Amino acid sequence: MGEYHGAGTNSMRDLPSVDAMLNRMGQQVAQYGHVQVTNTLRDALTAIRSELLSGVSYENLESVLRQRVCSTLALDNGVSLRPVLNLTGTVIHTNLGRAALAEPALAAVVRCASGASNLEYDLAAGERGDRDTHVEPLIQALSGAEAATFVNNNAAAVLLVLNTLARNAEVPVSRGELVEIGGSFRIPEVMERSGVKLVEVGATNRTHLKDYEGALTANTAALMKVHTSNYRIEGFTHAVREIDLAGLAHEHNIPLVVDLGSGSLVDMSAYGLPSEPTVAEIIEAGADVVTFSGDKLLGGPQCGIIAGKRELIDRIRANPLKRALRLDKMTLAALAETLKLYLNPDQLAERLPALRFLTRSVADIEAMARQMLPAVQNSLGPEYRVTVEDCQSQIGSGALPVETIPSCALVVRACSGKDSVLRALAKALRDLEVPVLGRIHDGCMVLDLRCLERKEALLEQLAMLNDTTR
Ligand SMILES: *Cc1c(COP(=O)(O)O)cnc(C)c1O
Repeated sequence: MGEYHGAGTNSMRDLPSVDAMLNRMGQQVAQYGHVQVTNTLRDALTAIRSELLSGVSYENLESVLRQRVCSTLALDNGVSLRPVLNLTGTVIHTNLGRAALAEPALAAVVRCASGASNLEYDLAAGERGDRDTHVEPLIQALSGAEAATFVNNNAAAVLLVLNTLARNAEVPVSRGELVEIGGSFRIPEVMERSGVKLVEVGATNRTHLKDYEGALTANTAALMKVHTSNYRIEGFTHAVREIDLAGLAHEHNIPLVVDLGSGSLVDMSAYGLPSEPTVAEIIEAGADVVTFSGDKLLGGPQCGIIAGKRELIDRIRANPLKRALRLDKMTLAALAETLKLYLNPDQLAERLPALRFLTRSVADIEAMARQMLPAVQNSLGPEYRVTVEDCQSQIGSGALPVETIPSCALVVRACSGKDSVLRALAKALRDLEVPVLGRIHDGCMVLDLRCLERKEALLEQLAMLNDTTR
């Protein structure tokens, strides 16, 4: 098999025509369609023609052509977005799709997406309804907010809030909170695109209430506080609490907007995790509008949630940009079911995958690692040495950036100590049908098992590593 360069002699005349090949490739035509096979054939013929002109020759032109067309068709029609095993130790990993959805949320997506639904139809009144009404009462119940509206992600939430409440006006923000989130979301840039003039106040490490006070002008439309979700300023620091900022804002009849980033609807310390501010606490402290993500700690689908005072939420919802940023039915269905799980906090850690992963005990993870060790060592072969070692997981997605959670990993080293051998393993793991993603650290491949719930899911993949990768 393969292509033989310079072995035979052939000329343009030996190249089959598109029509002749189409007749001989009936199976491919049935599978991929006439148009696609024809176009792929044309491209392959053009390429081969120019190779022949440059002096290359092939043993069997037709078989070379057929092989190329088949592999191009398979590539073009392959599934690009697919499941992977997240053994990176970062539980809510933005590059790996963030939160895994709970069973009821998945079921709701299928139910609502496979047919018509009452997305914007009020069944009780028999008239047009609003899509937000399917989720708004849940956010009201879980956060104490008067009202809520929903958009594509938290970045969109910040954009829409600022554009509605502060377009062509000024918003003071502490210099310690001019956050950049991975993937190029930067508070100053989003503010600019929202049509808002950012007024920087305070210093990187210390901002006081009087700094905000000094920045207030007749053109100040809101005060804004941004949760420093993916970094922490330590040492000689001071930030103004929401409750004090709210007091100042209300004295001047302007709203306080808080971008909470991850946010949480429950106190994480109740589950033995480091605590993040809850949405209810921030609302209670007097914030008028709070924005947060649906797929970070909340554990739901990608979306941005805007909760706060009824009058402000109504204005935000009436912004024409809301139409461009609104949620689709699948996301709304998944979000509603995710939020319902929070109504029963006793079972949340079991039912919500993100929280289930985060609260798994080290003992449980270590027991799994030890059970798997012999099979994993066997699949990887003698070139690698596998051990069970302690490691640290991270929550990810900018939640609790400094704290880590003790975990346990299968740690793989190349016996030769060669980096290239370890990199070859990393590549082979990525090439598996369900790619296995670990983290390379200090000359080892660390496979943190915190997010692995079924050991067979990994063992089945490793068993497919073929001999050439050993
Ligand atoms: C993550 C984050 C965002 C962006 O949220 P997305 O849901 O990723 O769009 C904005 N602000 C803060 C503080 C964040 O942590």
